Amino acid sequence: MKPVYLDYAATTPVDPAVIEVMVGCLGQEGLFANPASRSHMYGWQAEDAVETARRQVADLIHADPREIVWTSGATEANNLALKGAAQARSKFGRHIVSVATEHKAVLDTLTWLSRQGFEVTLLAPSADGRLDAATLRDALREDTILVSCMHANNETGVIHDIAALGQVCRDVSADRPRGEGILVHVDAAQTLGKLPIDLSQLPVDLMSFSAHKLYGPKGVGALYVRRAPGVVLEAQIHGGGHERGMRSGTLATHQLAGFGAACALAATSMDSDNARIQTLRDRLWAGLQAIGGVHLNGHPDARLPGHLNVAFEGLDGELLLTALSDIAVSTGSACTSASLEPSYVLRAMGISDALAHASLRFSVGRYTSSADIEHALSHIADTLARLRGE
Ligand SMILES: *Cc1c(COP(=O)(O)O)cnc(C)c1O
Repeated sequence: MKPVYLDYAATTPVDPAVIEVMVGCLGQEGLFANPASRSHMYGWQAEDAVETARRQVADLIHADPREIVWTSGATEANNLALKGAAQARSKFGRHIVSVATEHKAVLDTLTWLSRQGFEVTLLAPSADGRLDAATLRDALREDTILVSCMHANNETGVIHDIAALGQVCRDVSADRPRGEGILVHVDAAQTLGKLPIDLSQLPVDLMSFSAHKLYGPKGVGALYVRRAPGVVLEAQIHGGGHERGMRSGTLATHQLAGFGAACALAATSMDSDNARIQTLRDRLWAGLQAIGGVHLNGHPDARLPGHLNVAFEGLDGELLLTALSDIAVSTGSACTSASLEPSYVLRAMGISDALAHASLRFSVGRYTSSADIEHALSHIADTLARLRGE
C-alpha cells in the first residue's frame, strides 16, 4: 500500500479535469501553436487559450486580465516582483521590509538585493506566527520603497492580515508624491484557490501565484501587477517583449491553460473543498491530542484549513519522519527539508530549538479521505508508542 499523502502544501496532484485541458494543447490536433504567431489560425487559437486562462486566473482574484504576468511559478514571480520593483524604485530609496518567516524564494531574493546595495529589514512575527500591523508601521522609513509579506505561511498555514498590513503602507505613503509610495508585495502561493482574494479591494500592488499548489501543473505561475495606479517593474528576463515587456519567452499554452482550468475549478469548489478539508484536518488534530504530548504551532484560527503543524514532545522530527513510513508528511517546507537545521519559520516564532526539531507539517487536500486520516492516526499512535518506549 502506498503511504497516505498528507503533503498538499508542498504540491498537489493535477486534477483530472485540468489534465484533460492540458492534453488538448499538446498534439497536432490540439492547440499546439505558438500563441505569439499572429499570421495564422493555429496561432490565434493558441492565443485564445492563453487569454482564456488569463481571464480565469484574473477572475479568481478579482483582477483585470491585463494585470496578470505569466511566470514559471511563484519563485520566479517573487523574483520579478522584488527585483523588478526594487530596481524600478531605487531612485526613491533603497529600504525594503519583509518578514523572517517568508518563503526562501523571497528571503534569498532579498539577500541578493542586499548585496546590490539595498537595505533589508526582516521583522519577527508574534508567537502565533502573524505580523503585527504596529510592528510593520514602526519599521517603515522615508526611504522604504517595498514591503513583502506572504498571505499564508507554507509551513504553518498561518494567515497574515494583508488588508491591514497593506493599509499601513498606504497610510504611510499618503503624503508622498504620486508613483513614489511604498509598493506592497504578497506571496500568495499557498492561498490562491484556498482563500478568497479580492484585489479590487486589497491594498496590494504585486501578488505571486503558483499553479501546482492548487491542482494545476508545476512550472507555471503568475505575478499580479496593479494597473491603477500603474506599477512599473524592471524586467528580469529579456527577449521578445512578451507579457508587456515584463517577462519574455514563448508562452507554454498547455501549462497556462492548465493553470486557468485549475483556477476555474477552484472558484466553484473552494467552499465545499475547504469545509471537507478542515473537518479532516480538525479530526487529525483531535486524534493527535488524544495521543498526547503534542503542541500546535501557529495561530489556532487564522490558519489555512488544510494545514497542521505539530510539535511532538521529546522526539526528533527527522527520526519521526523516517519512522512514519505509512504517511507522506514533511518537517517543514520541501525546499529546506534537505537541511538538518530546525525550521527557521518556527524559530522566528520563538519556538525552542527542541520543539522546532520535533515538529512535523501535515497538510490535507482535495483527495484526502477520512479513511486516510484514521489510518494516519493509528499509524502515528503505534509509532509514537514505539519511539517513546511505552
Ligand atoms: C510553493 C511556494 C513557493 C514556490 O512556488 P513555485 O511555483 O514552486 O516556484 C513560493 N512561496 C510559497 C509561499 C510557496 O508555498
